[in-house]
Amino acid sequence: MASNGYRNGTGTNKGAIKPPASSNIRSSSFKSRLPPSSNHSTGSALRRTSSASFTTAAGVPGRVRVAVRLRPRNAEESTADADFADCVELQPELKRLKLRKNNWESETYEFDEVLTEFASQKRVYEVVAKPVVESVLDGYNGTVMAYGQTGTGKTFTLGRLGEEDTSARGIMVRSMEEILANVTPETDSISVSYLQLYMETIQDLLDPANDNISIVEDPRTGDVSLPGATHVEIKDEPSFLELLRLGEAHRIAANTKLNTESSRSHAILMVHVKRSVLGEEVAIPSESDKSSHFVKPPKPLVRKSKLVLVDLAGSERVQKSGSEGHMLEEAKSINLSLSALGKCINALAENSAHVPIRDSKLTRLLRDSFGGTARTSLIVTIGPSPRHRGETASTILFGQRAMKVENMLRIKEEFDYKSLARRLEIQLDKLIAENERQQKAFDDEVERINLEAQNRVSEVERNFTDALEKERLKCQMEYMESVKKLEEKMIENQRKHQHDGFMKDKCNWEGPGFSEDIAEVKKLLEKEIHMRKEAEKEVNKLKSQLGQHMDAGAGGDAEILKLQIALEDEVHQKKKLEEEIIILRSQMLQLTFEADQMRRCLARGGSGNAYPGLDSPMSQVRDSLSGHKTPVSALFDQVGVQKILDLLESEDANVRIHAVKVVANLAAEEANQERIVEAGGLTSLLMLLRSYEDETVRRVAAGAIANLAMNEANQELIMVQGGISLLSTTASDAEDPQTLRMVAGAIANLCGNDKLQATLRSEGGIKALLGMVRCRHPDVLSQVARGIANFAKCESRASTNGIRSGRSLLIDEGALPWIVQNANNDAAPIRRHIELALCHLAQHEANAKDMINGGALWELVRITRDCSREDIRSLARRTLNSSLLFRSEMRRLRIEL
Ligand code: ADP
Ligand code: MG
Repeated sequence: MASNGYRNGTGTNKGAIKPPASSNIRSSSFKSRLPPSSNHSTGSALRRTSSASFTTAAGVPGRVRVAVRLRPRNAEESTADADFADCVELQPELKRLKLRKNNWESETYEFDEVLTEFASQKRVYEVVAKPVVESVLDGYNGTVMAYGQTGTGKTFTLGRLGEEDTSARGIMVRSMEEILANVTPETDSISVSYLQLYMETIQDLLDPANDNISIVEDPRTGDVSLPGATHVEIKDEPSFLELLRLGEAHRIAANTKLNTESSRSHAILMVHVKRSVLGEEVAIPSESDKSSHFVKPPKPLVRKSKLVLVDLAGSERVQKSGSEGHMLEEAKSINLSLSALGKCINALAENSAHVPIRDSKLTRLLRDSFGGTARTSLIVTIGPSPRHRGETASTILFGQRAMKVENMLRIKEEFDYKSLARRLEIQLDKLIAENERQQKAFDDEVERINLEAQNRVSEVERNFTDALEKERLKCQMEYMESVKKLEEKMIENQRKHQHDGFMKDKCNWEGPGFSEDIAEVKKLLEKEIHMRKEAEKEVNKLKSQLGQHMDAGAGGDAEILKLQIALEDEVHQKKKLEEEIIILRSQMLQLTFEADQMRRCLARGGSGNAYPGLDSPMSQVRDSLSGHKTPVSALFDQVGVQKILDLLESEDANVRIHAVKVVANLAAEEANQERIVEAGGLTSLLMLLRSYEDETVRRVAAGAIANLAMNEANQELIMVQGGISLLSTTASDAEDPQTLRMVAGAIANLCGNDKLQATLRSEGGIKALLGMVRCRHPDVLSQVARGIANFAKCESRASTNGIRSGRSLLIDEGALPWIVQNANNDAAPIRRHIELALCHLAQHEANAKDMINGGALWELVRITRDCSREDIRSLARRTLNSSLLFRSEMRRLRIEL
């Protein structure tokens, strides 16, 4: 019974805790050195540490954790030791174990865990192995070893498969279960080697033929590996169980072969765990701004760790070698590795400078997995039998010493360069794709904005153009309207001043087509007026009839109604007629301008030019001196030259024609010319000549230029502005006789300028003038003749003044034959100009020879006789008489004047 009391700890225990072995004191001091969290849930603390820094050079301090497990009495013990108390008494709540020396004396030891005979396999796993497994999952190496006398339950604790009763599963199966539950199959891998170490030989339990596996140690890292061992990849628990079964079968077979017991060999299960993890993101301060965070992507890392589960050989032999004084050699031969392990643990516990790791294969194999940088748990198994008290005490002391072994956990991880490269590649590809997407989006956006901007710009431009066009048209209409009104006013004024005689004058006009037009318009007007009068008469008649009816009081309402309708009809008719009259009047307006010019020309005895000024400028002077202003001039004063000139550029062809006519009419009056030229009228007219598009415009423009060319100052301006070549071009390509007449008139005016003689010739003016005779129209010929006369007169003047000498440029240009031919032209104006020209040419000896040869002498002689004008007759006579050559030729021909 006492034994019960002992077991229950209620016996006469003298020393509450006997600490004869310094281990007790030390064990408590070891405890105080442990990190605060280093209880059984230390795993989480390790995880934190490991994730905080992948550089584990510093490591996590700790020590080998030791648990003691008591096997329940077996059947034999229950019978044999029935009268004896157990040799140990457990105080699991105090984590103490009392080892009885005798009935009254016991020694108490503290362990990290004290597991009673009732401790479940699950609990054993959780307190002994789970922290190590968690640590392995975090990347540390870890070891769980079972140490104890044969038959105390090492294999029961570690290796039970629990096939029939899952609650019986040992640490190996449970560890694998936990590992499998925590890894990611896609990125992580688990492989297993199962070995047996017997008599310093390592056998492969997964491949029995492989019975001498060597240990390889990496001198740099200290990592231990068995390259010759079979590594089996584990994907699930059943395959692992199968593997354990296979290993166990091979172990039994091998031991039978070697004639040994499994208790004399060490079974070593190595689980290799390879996990992919990400290092921490590291914030790097940039050079410029220390606060900015440039986050370096996390590094891909591979953590390689190893869980070693060792079912050690029975410790009884070692006990014996120590306690029973066996020879060391013998002990060595029995189990060298286990004794070496004990020595190493002792050395480590004593902090000895030398740890004899190399003494055995087991210690070499556990080099990186026991103490040192690994997390280690040791479970010491004991039996309750007092008969094995010595073995039990020895086991307890082994465990106590192991508790003093400190270790420094170091995580084993390395960069996974391959996966880093792969990951960076994927990231790069993603970034490239993203960049491309963004670039595309950006380009699209730019294009869209551009398009939008273009659309807006064109819309604004369109609106602006429309508005401008509208405004321009409006202004143009207004100008035209005001011009029209003014014209009407002028006609009214003109009528008042000129009475009926004007109409009479008009009838005498000889201008081509104008008289007919006027007559026709006049006829129409008279007809309309007549019709109007008739209508008025009719209305009056009806009115008086109505009055009669009314007076008479007779006649029905129907008659009155009929008359009223007739009356309304008449009124309507009248209105229409009035409108037609207005239209006719406005048509007459333009004719009036032209008629006005015509009238003045006729008054001057001209050839009926619509545009005066082709003859003597004196006619204008006369007009302007005559006191009254022409209708066009009045218009000019009222409207303003600029406005009229602006109309020259109108887009409406009719407006342009009308405007150029008005300008031409204005230019016919000397008083207006200066203002026209000042306002750029000459340039505008030359432009019209250049941008020839309409014969009327060209004709009228040429006429206006001809008018302006009467003025000496304008003549020079025309030259400067390239007028000669423009006129020459027109002279060569125009067909219309009236256009040619205007051009010839303009050139003829220029021919009268002394200063322009040479330029006129050099720029082709003379040639152009002479070229126009191809058109046989007398009006054109007359202007050509006038030009020749003007030119000859200037030349003659220059020669007389000694400014020039030599033959006439006209003769040089080949004008003489045409002059001679037309000297007796039927048309009086042509004849007169040529007679004058011949006289001028004859005044200089240099021309005489050519003139004689060309037959001009005969013409001159004829002039002296036939010319209707006395002054020319005598001029010709004087000229011939004053020339030696002519005189001698006349003598030779016997001509007498
Ligand atoms: P060892 O491997 O240390 O030589 P075993 O594990 O083979 O010892 O155990 C010896 C015997 O004791 C086995 O029959 C086993 O079932 C039994 N045994 C061991 N430990 C316990 C325990 N905790 N509970 C019940 N039976 C146990
Ligand atoms: Mg065993």
